[in-house]
This record gives sequence, structure tokens and C-alpha cells, in this order.
Amino acid sequence: MDSSPRVIIFPFPAQGHVNSMLKLAQLLSLSNVQVTFLVTVDTHDRLLNHTDVISRFGSGFHLQPLPHGISMDVMNTRDGLSILYDSLNKIAKPFLREFIAYSPVTTCLITDGILSMAADVAQEINLPIIYFRTASASSFWSYFCMPDLIQVGELPLKENAKDLTLTKVKGMEDFLRGRDLPSFCQASDLTSPDFRIVMTETRQTPRARGLILNTFEDLEGPILSQIRTVCPNVYTIGPVHAHLKAKLGTKSTSSNSLWQEDESCMSWLDTQPPKSVIYVSFGSVAGLTKEELLEFWYGIVNSEQKFLWVMRPDLIIGQERKDEIPVELEQGTKARGYMADWVPQEKVLAHRAIGGFLTHSGWNSTLESIVEGVPMICWPRFADQQVNSRFVGEVWKMGLDIKDTCDRDIIAKSIRDLMEKRNGEFSQRTEHMANLAKKAVNEGGSSYINLDRLIQDIRSITP
Ligand code: UDP
Repeated sequence: MDSSPRVIIFPFPAQGHVNSMLKLAQLLSLSNVQVTFLVTVDTHDRLLNHTDVISRFGSGFHLQPLPHGISMDVMNTRDGLSILYDSLNKIAKPFLREFIAYSPVTTCLITDGILSMAADVAQEINLPIIYFRTASASSFWSYFCMPDLIQVGELPLKENAKDLTLTKVKGMEDFLRGRDLPSFCQASDLTSPDFRIVMTETRQTPRARGLILNTFEDLEGPILSQIRTVCPNVYTIGPVHAHLKAKLGTKSTSSNSLWQEDESCMSWLDTQPPKSVIYVSFGSVAGLTKEELLEFWYGIVNSEQKFLWVMRPDLIIGQERKDEIPVELEQGTKARGYMADWVPQEKVLAHRAIGGFLTHSGWNSTLESIVEGVPMICWPRFADQQVNSRFVGEVWKMGLDIKDTCDRDIIAKSIRDLMEKRNGEFSQRTEHMANLAKKAVNEGGSSYINLDRLIQDIRSITP
């Protein structure tokens, strides 16, 4: 009989969550842990269509679709988060209960740290649970401190207090302003469903026997110390994509993309001089209004730098993207730009032609940029992105945080500063952190040791 442990991994259905939890799944598979990975039907089909996920993992890996009726596409709509939660509660929860009952013996459930419904099921049947929170430690901690901010009256946030520093997010008192809080916490009305969901979910974290974070000690050490006061067993194993590269001994990992990647941009990058291109992407969910898109377009073209821009078909809020270039921008776009629907981002960031990243500050994108030593301009949109961008700009000093502005002149100037005037200063910081990231995931590093400890802990609970 096979005595290897068997875990169920259940990510929240969105690209950023699926991506990093699949990387964890692959890391566990490499250590002979059997993994069943639960995903929505649309994610399941996209993974089969666009990735080599099945052949890559081997026979100990099983991709399991949830029943129909839950789709990650609602995330782009108003109240998308609460709609998705409702369907997860109604459909995924009973499914998980039955699935575990009729499956071979499960060692433990590794659930996304915002899916306490899965933890409820595990607790009903005494199945050990470990949480994986896919965002930064800093954003997790700022969510965790929300009740304290409410208690001292700093939340709900007053419009004229957005630039004041907050007093109750321990470890961040010197630099975290109201406008740097996760977007869900900036609502004037604290009864908003999104705020309730993230706060309630986060406060439940100590229920789990451990918390896995996609970060590393040298990056977020002081905040991790705060987290350990409420969740003592934290496994920092990140950056997971770099960890996987180190284990596989390859330059880049295979993609977990839910969309078809346009590889042709790599040949275009090959023809560009070193550090001459700014890469522009707003991740998989964030959208722009038509007016914002135009401001960015003018700013990028007016900066006179070469650019590679991911323009997802659903990037413009409420409408299909039309493949027209505004007349005044046509010449600059054709002369210096390359547009793509979706690119192999890890490979793009690793390309020698990339000198900067204009990003929405999603956590995966931030880590991918750090690992390649690429400085960032941060334009956060929602959720944890506001906190991440504050750390990039103010704490790690790896780029510029231009949150809450959308002006073509500021965008053009920021790009020129990042790519030329202040490139040396930012590159020095990012390259230093890139080295620390690599150290963390290689033999003897903190993330390497923590992954080993996680695997040993899973083995020790094998029934
Ligand atoms: N990504 C990609 N190709 C693209 C744009 C993004 O592969 O053209 C990947 C990127 O590498 C990252 C993920 O999509 O791993 C986005 O996750 P992130 O946490 O940065 O943002 P989210 O999409 O969750 O807002």
C-alpha cells in the first residue's frame, strides 16, 4: 500500500491564488506528497487547455473540478467577491464534505486562507487544516488589525484623513497611511460585504494548525514577527516560483496561466537593448476605465521609452477592448510599443531587455519582479495592492508608488525617472533583494528550511 501522505489543496478561484497554490502543489509533489487540487470547472478547463499541468506533476497529482455553478469570471463584476462567496458556500462546501468522505484517506486540507468554509468542513470531521494565504504578510497583517483600527475610530476612514498614518497596525505605525490600507478597508461604510468577508476570514486564521505564506524572512521579517504573536506556526516558503525553479534546477518554471500566452513578444524583446523596455501589466482581474486607459496610453507613449503592454481583452471596465490605436498615439505606439493579450510574465521579467515594470502591485507580480531585480512603478487597484505598493515605494525603496493618481504627465515622468534618472538607485535595491530571495529558496535558506519543516509536519500527521 502507498504510504505517502495525501493532501487536498483548495485555492480561491482566481489566477493569482491558483498560480501560487499550484506551485506549492508541485513543490509537495516533488517530495512524494500526493495532491488533489480542487478548482472551478472553468479553471480546470483553462489549465488543461493552456498548460502542461498534468504531465508536469506525475501520477500523484489529481486535478479535481468542483461542481458547475461557480465561476471566477464574476470577480470582474460589481459585488463579484460576495457573489463568489455565496456560490462557494452553497456549492463547494457540501461538495467538499462528500468528496472527503468518499476519497482515499486524506492527511490534511491546505485551504486558501480566505476560505474558512473549507476549514468548517475539515473541523467537522477532525481533519487537520493548514492555511495558505497567497497575498503578502503585510496585507494579511493589516487585515488582521482592522478591529483595532475600528476601536480607536481610525476606521471607517475619513476622506480628509487618508494621508495620516494609522496607529494600530503594529510594525507599520511609521509609514502606513489610510490610503495604503487594502481597498476593501477604505470603504466609508464598514457594513460593505467585501469588508466583512475579508475581516471575518482573516480573523479566523488562528483556527488552522499552520499558516503558509508566499514570502521570505528577509523581505517581511518585522511584520512576520507581529503575525507570529497570533499565529505561532508560520511557514514562509516563498517566493514559491523561485523556490520551484531552485528545486527543478531550471531558469524558469512552466506556466500556470489560465489564458493563452503570446510567446511572440519574446522575439520582439530579443531585438531590444538591455534594460530598455518598460513592461506594463495590470494583472488578471484589475480593469481600467476608458479615461484611465487613455491617460496611461499618453503617459507611456510620451515617456518615449520602449514598452511591452499586456492589454487583456477585458481590461476596459464594462466593454470589450477594440483594437484601435488613438490617432495621436499611433506613431509612438508602433515605433516603440508591443501589445499582447497575455504574456509569459515570469519569462518576460527575466528578459535582459526589461528595465522596469509598471504594475498593479498584485503580490505574485511584485514577487516576480523582485526575484528578477526589476524596479517597479506601482498603480494599485484593489485588495492588497495598496499595501504592497506602499512597501515597494516607502519601505523597500524599489520603485515609485503612484497610487490614487492617473495623470499622463505624472505617468510619463515616473517612467522616465524609473528607467533613466533614478534607475541606478532602484536597481541597486531590487538586485540586493533579488539576491536575498534566491538565498532564501536555496539549500540552507529560510524558505528552503520552512518547506522542509512543512513537509515533515504533513508526514507526521499521516494516519
Ligand atoms: N500573468 C501572466 N501573464 C500576463 C499577466 C499576468 O502570466 O500577461 C501572471 C503573473 O505572472 C502573475 C499572475 O498572472 O503570476 C497575476 O497575479 P497577481 O497576484 O500579480 O495579480 P492578480 O491577477 O491576482 O490581480
